Amino acid sequence: MNFLITGAAGFLGSALANHLVQQGHQVRGLDDLSAGDRAALSPEVLFTRGDVRDRPKLWTLLQDVDCVYHLAARVSVPESVLYPREYNDVNVGGTVALMEALRDVGVRRVVLASSGAVYGHQPTQPLHEDMMPHPHSPYAVSKLAAEHYVRTIGELWGIETVVLRVFNAYGPGQHLPPAHPPVIPNFLYQALHNGTLVVHGDGSQTRDYVFIDDVVDALTAAATAPQAAGEIINVGSGQEISVRELVALVLKTTGSRAEVVYNPRAAGGVLRMRADLTRAAQVLNYHPKTDLATGLRLTLQTDPRFRQHTPSP
Ligand code: NAD
Repeated sequence: MNFLITGAAGFLGSALANHLVQQGHQVRGLDDLSAGDRAALSPEVLFTRGDVRDRPKLWTLLQDVDCVYHLAARVSVPESVLYPREYNDVNVGGTVALMEALRDVGVRRVVLASSGAVYGHQPTQPLHEDMMPHPHSPYAVSKLAAEHYVRTIGELWGIETVVLRVFNAYGPGQHLPPAHPPVIPNFLYQALHNGTLVVHGDGSQTRDYVFIDDVVDALTAAATAPQAAGEIINVGSGQEISVRELVALVLKTTGSRAEVVYNPRAAGGVLRMRADLTRAAQVLNYHPKTDLATGLRLTLQTDPRFRQHTPSP
């Protein structure tokens, strides 16, 4: 098949692109490199540097494409609180521009990487796709708006749409920006460098951490699964772990005695997150394979930034 991946040089995009070319598919990648790293992509990926809102560029890239993965986005919840307009411009404006181009060129299917963050606070767990979303950050609002645009424009123009609500993905190659780093690579880095693991809130908040290979499995299935068209589907591990437990696991796995600081005055975000995977199993035959302890070990073993600092077992 012929694919276009927006945000191809990012953490999820590069893992997906490299997997698809390995399977023998033709893959075009678009990324403005604002956060992504072109070096993460295998040479077989046909890469173009550019903005996802650049419609003429999209028209060219979309010729003969069977399925588009839309992953280009600004992705930090705390950063979105500071710059909501930018998050709206890229995450919502970029999605609308892409959908217009899909309509113009006539592409069969689009898969949107949305987020478990759209659920916000909910009275019960696990989080099911039919629950009413209550987004709590500009990032989450932008992902929910993107979902609505993809589905609405898709319905109007006969484009098949699949929305994947990805929970907290982690694994080798995840970016570690100095401001607002994602929690797992940041904790691993601090643990290996005898730094400080800073926990926002009291650490009782829970998250559903899903290993990159499992996310790639779900994304791959979403391109062709016949029943996926028109669906919103959770992609997580189905397991819930508190940030306090995560800290203990990171320290154990790295053999580190790094300092842990709790910052109770900082908001810990949404209290609980666990994905209900019933629909993912039914529609995508998705069954996550890697538990958190294994995923952390694989990340330490395969990510060059961590490997050289990891003590041998
Ligand atoms: P990432 O930052 O590594 O990847 C996003 C990519 O988009 C980057 O390479 C960046 O350079 C690119 N980009 C940003 N603005 C762009 C623009 N205007 N034009 C073209 N490219 C642009 O993040 P990621 O973790 O790989 O996330 C990929 C997608 O998955 C995002 O849509 C994100 O919202 C979604 N998602 C990720 C997670 C996660 O835990 N990683 C969870 C839920 C949803």
